[in-house]
Amino acid sequence: MSETKKYVYAFEEGNKDMRELLGGKGANLAEMSNLGINVPPGFTITTEVCDLYYKNGKVLLPEVKEQVIIKLKELERKMGKTLGDANDPLLVSVRSGAAVSLPGMMDTILNLGLNDQSVLGLANKTNNPRFAWDSYRRLIQMYGNVVMGVEHSEFEHILENIKNTKGAKFDTDLTAEDLQEVVTRYKNKIEQVIGIDFPQNPLEQLFGAINAVFNSWNNYRAIRYRQINDIKGLLGTAVNVQTMVFGNLGEDSGTGVCFTRNPATGEAKFYGEYLMNAQGEDVVAGIRTPLPVAALENQNPILYKELVETGLRLEKHYRDMQDIEFTIQQGKLFILQARNGKRTATAAVRIAVELVGEGLITKEEAILRVDPNSLNQLLHKQLDPIAKEQAEVITQGLPASPGAAVGEIVFTASEAYEKAQSGLDVILVRTETSPEDIDGMHSAKGILTARGGMTSHAAVVARGMGTCCVAGCSDLIIDEKAKTLFFKEKEITLREGDFISLDGSTGKVYLGKIATQDPELGGNFGTLMSWADEIRRLRIRTNADTPYDAQVARKFGAEGIGLCRTEHMFFEGDRIKAVREMILASDLEGRKKALAKLLPYQKQDFIGLFHAMDGYAVTIRLLDPPLHEFLPKEDKEIYELAREMEVDVGTLKAKISSLHEFNPMLGHRGCRLAITYPEIYDMQVTAIIEAAIEVSSSCKTCGRSTVVKPEIMIPLVATTKEFTILKERIIKIVEEKMAEAGVKIEYKIGTMIEVPRAALVADKIVNAGAEFFSFGTNDLTQMGAGLSRDDAGKFLKEYVSQGIYEYDPFEILDQEGIGELIRLAIVKGRSVKSDLKIGICGEHGGEPKTIEFCHREGFNYVSCSPFRVPIARLAAAQAVVKEKNKK
Ligand code: ADP
Ligand code: MG
Ligand code: MG
Repeated sequence: MSETKKYVYAFEEGNKDMRELLGGKGANLAEMSNLGINVPPGFTITTEVCDLYYKNGKVLLPEVKEQVIIKLKELERKMGKTLGDANDPLLVSVRSGAAVSLPGMMDTILNLGLNDQSVLGLANKTNNPRFAWDSYRRLIQMYGNVVMGVEHSEFEHILENIKNTKGAKFDTDLTAEDLQEVVTRYKNKIEQVIGIDFPQNPLEQLFGAINAVFNSWNNYRAIRYRQINDIKGLLGTAVNVQTMVFGNLGEDSGTGVCFTRNPATGEAKFYGEYLMNAQGEDVVAGIRTPLPVAALENQNPILYKELVETGLRLEKHYRDMQDIEFTIQQGKLFILQARNGKRTATAAVRIAVELVGEGLITKEEAILRVDPNSLNQLLHKQLDPIAKEQAEVITQGLPASPGAAVGEIVFTASEAYEKAQSGLDVILVRTETSPEDIDGMHSAKGILTARGGMTSHAAVVARGMGTCCVAGCSDLIIDEKAKTLFFKEKEITLREGDFISLDGSTGKVYLGKIATQDPELGGNFGTLMSWADEIRRLRIRTNADTPYDAQVARKFGAEGIGLCRTEHMFFEGDRIKAVREMILASDLEGRKKALAKLLPYQKQDFIGLFHAMDGYAVTIRLLDPPLHEFLPKEDKEIYELAREMEVDVGTLKAKISSLHEFNPMLGHRGCRLAITYPEIYDMQVTAIIEAAIEVSSSCKTCGRSTVVKPEIMIPLVATTKEFTILKERIIKIVEEKMAEAGVKIEYKIGTMIEVPRAALVADKIVNAGAEFFSFGTNDLTQMGAGLSRDDAGKFLKEYVSQGIYEYDPFEILDQEGIGELIRLAIVKGRSVKSDLKIGICGEHGGEPKTIEFCHREGFNYVSCSPFRVPIARLAAAQAVVKEKNKK
């Protein structure tokens, strides 16, 4: 390590493009300082230092300490004050800030530099002892907790106690003397709990705080936040040391958080909250309920105007909606942080579209501004408006995060987690949430809090997760111990397990379960999607087995069916009987008789699908699962079936056990069924082609004629010969039927590539006549990586946390390994037939990272479940923009 390496940057030395090194907060404080915005001066210790700190056994290198002291001296000179000086102390904050923001997950310490002497100096200098003691007690509380490890509640307890004895409702009602007493008791508490005194030496305080902020990079909640949000590859947090400004200097001072546009709806209207005579986290901690920022316009119009103008200037500069933290010190405005604001999916879409309209960004940038997975929120349910009208509103809070949630009440994060694990829908009810609740919040369908505003912890985190949240519902009395929830106004008591429904867009809370309904897809959403459609190259198909699913998918923009699984059709109503009859038949004649009963049903299924897809291609996978899946497993059902089928129980049981397989995934399934029982596929192919002929002529059912493009797909092919044998049978049936009817249908025969061997001989399979490949990435992952999907859940989490696999390979395609099999098959296949049609139909087909891979590898389409179709459309467009940006 070179001695001259720079570890510490004054704000003036950085800029917004240095976020990797200075963290997002540091880079933006630097940028704003250089823009001439009123930012309290300070300096940033780089993220590299955090990395070194951990590598060095959680100790700061001496050269880092030296550089910190040098920058501190510069800051002291600039401010004309010395850190912790007894007469006129410089006070600083020590703030975390990584390259990607982890809101509220790491630690911050304010008012550093105060001690038993300098508190008196500050009181004198400001002529405001109350303020000085309030600042000191805040420092001891934060430092005691974050650096010295004394429970936060120990301090809260003391504060509540003194407030009670003095008859004070809010912290602001306490006098200087009261606060002095708080300070004494805080200090005693620290000494009593850990046996060490609160440090009086300002430099000791400073380095203690710096280390604590570095430590907070790896606290549990920061780690969990990074996991949940898939934040990887960062060096660590930077540390910002910044001159304090004070929002707790009296009624002409305050602190707040604002957004240049509404983060819930996206409306281009200034939005935020503030509290007068308050400091730091008071607004977000939900201790007092803050005022809407619009109220500042009445209170101090000039300052309000300055705030709005600064916000808009930053928005133009960063070309995105800004989330701004500010403090007012005796009527003067300071900006303490600005960043691109977190927002709901609704807001993300609206803001992206409107910024294009305002000429600030291009359509391509707009497409990159919306996380495809977040569209899930938009596609998700709302409370049914009619059911809502009839339901009883029991109370109303703030509409903190939109959507609807219906579930049973739980009172703690751990209960929320446990119940959700067992499959229940829960609503987490808390007085206020804290970062420790993160797992429970993640598990809950909805969150309801009694305290805190629109920028409270609960609200911010819920919006980020896309979870419905109603916050600041002051009508609630929560008794966590008794597990009861009392609604003051209605005088209703609910208990754990009772159902409520939340409307996160209005803040209303309803008694019981309310029906939900699907959302509106036009407007800004429609506009953004139309831009995505202009840009993307990949086609998006859907996995659908019923005309209903096919119609839903069409509404979401699907351009064909990439996978119709025919086995689902075998289970419905009377069909399962015929299927079982076929399985139990002792000879070919018997099987054919049973299959003949199934044929008309199958034909009707395909007629429905062809109509729904109205001219788009429909890929039908011939029967895939092993036959024992269609037979009962429980004794009771076996007896019933025997009676129904008029067979002897013993015979039935013998048949079932003869079909038993030790490893069904690798057993008698897919095309292997048709090699031994070709009549099954014969029936399916007959149904497909007869349906196609009917729909393309004038349909008997509706009289219309529709273009039909069936693509017949053979599953689980491993060898060329399997494909050849089955293909020939299919062609024979199709050609005969078409000749009979005098109709020509444009059809294709292709194969799934899901057995690794098929990927290795892909060229030969194309030579044998395959006209398309569809990658079945579930099986391909299973067989390619040797991971049983049904068993791997037990250890895959551990694999991911140790970085053995970057992601669960069943959720996000393993591009390095399974991806290589896919690349190989494509190269081989297209070496024979350059226009070979290529798609993906595994669950991965709706996953944005996998979609980007499919785009790069020259797929023709991806296919996914109906609700993921819009996600895939956007992800496919992003893949194009990202590719362009790389060049
Ligand atoms: P987080 O990353 O959790 O938001 P911050 O470092 O932004 O933590 O600090 C939290 C709050 O502390 C800020 O929003 C601000 O209100 C207050 N704060 C931080 N530094 C200062 C400062 N120098 N002067 C006044 N208030 C500060
Ligand atoms: Mg902040
Ligand atoms: Mg498969």
